[in-house]
Amino acid sequence: MWVERYHTNFRVASADKLNFGMDHLGRLERLRVDISDKHLDALVVTHLPNVRYLCGFTGSTGVLVVTPKKSAFITDGRYAEQASEEVKDAKVVIDRRPALVATAEWLAKEKRKSRSRDVQILGIEESLTVGARKKFADALPGGFRMRIAPSMVENLRTIKDSDEVRLIRAAVDLGCRLFKTARQTIRAGVTETEVAAEMEYEARKRGASAMSFDTIIAAGERSALPHGRASGARIPASGFVVCDFGVILAGYCSDMTRTVHVGPVSEEEARFYGAVLEAQLAAVSVVRPGATAGEVDQAARKVLQKAGLGRYFTHSTGHGVGIEIHEAPKVAADQEVELEPGMVITVEPGAYVPGAWGVRIEDMVLVTESGCEVLTNTSKELITV
Ligand code: ZN
Ligand code: ZN
Repeated sequence: MWVERYHTNFRVASADKLNFGMDHLGRLERLRVDISDKHLDALVVTHLPNVRYLCGFTGSTGVLVVTPKKSAFITDGRYAEQASEEVKDAKVVIDRRPALVATAEWLAKEKRKSRSRDVQILGIEESLTVGARKKFADALPGGFRMRIAPSMVENLRTIKDSDEVRLIRAAVDLGCRLFKTARQTIRAGVTETEVAAEMEYEARKRGASAMSFDTIIAAGERSALPHGRASGARIPASGFVVCDFGVILAGYCSDMTRTVHVGPVSEEEARFYGAVLEAQLAAVSVVRPGATAGEVDQAARKVLQKAGLGRYFTHSTGHGVGIEIHEAPKVAADQEVELEPGMVITVEPGAYVPGAWGVRIEDMVLVTESGCEVLTNTSKELITV
């Protein structure tokens, strides 16, 4: 019980700092423009990162309803204290029933108050499960229709406001600090998990609430696995070590990759690394407002193809990052979405020769009015440890 209470208070205290000065009202207003453009009477926000973005709630149960004039956050008694501390610019409704059932009731009450006889169109998010949709539909009285309204909040979230950029910078800087820890720990004979553990300990000591995904430390032949989570394998006497990691700090994620080398670097390895680095720099150089995400991907791909390594670049070039580690936009072949100031994306080409080695280099990049700013402030020259 005491532990439960301690955790609750702790979460409230840290989230309080997080929400300080955040422009939730501005975000809600931008969403309302989209709600009216799409002829919806309300948007029922159930994806928790979207709820957090719009009203500040960091807990794990709750629904935010946004109508053209009102917003209500509906949750149960377990979150009463947390909701009253965290939620900004929405009325908090505490209800014993499951949140979607209580949401249906709230909507029905609002409709009665407005004396409207029109059928109301409710936008629901794509991520709402079939089971939850059915429960919600069963709880709604007549006079409502549900319509799937894809990515409305996700699209708003692609453009980070200045508060978000500040928090993202802090998360990225902590990531860079962890790379120093990795460099100090990586040596032949040490296990990959030992390296990850040192980094993760450092992250928590410096305020991260968690890693933004399972830390990837992939050494030797394992460096050819693009998602080689740190394992019990020992770092061999010679070869590449791919380090891909990030933290969640004050609610925002970071993501970076550096590939280091243990022991002497062969000419072939140096050429291989050089090609990936050139691809990464080429992709960063095209990041600017108006460029498409597909063009950024293409710039990296072209360099690796020219070096004869095109077939070893087996994933897309990057993704948006923010409250979630993978957000819109996708930076991949043929993605036509145009980059806009305030977007934060990763640029992370890699090349992987199965059974031999792999290299990936990843930065987080902020799209600015005039071009871009690489947020990841760590050298990309090949480091030998
Ligand atoms: Zn990464
Ligand atoms: Zn990434």
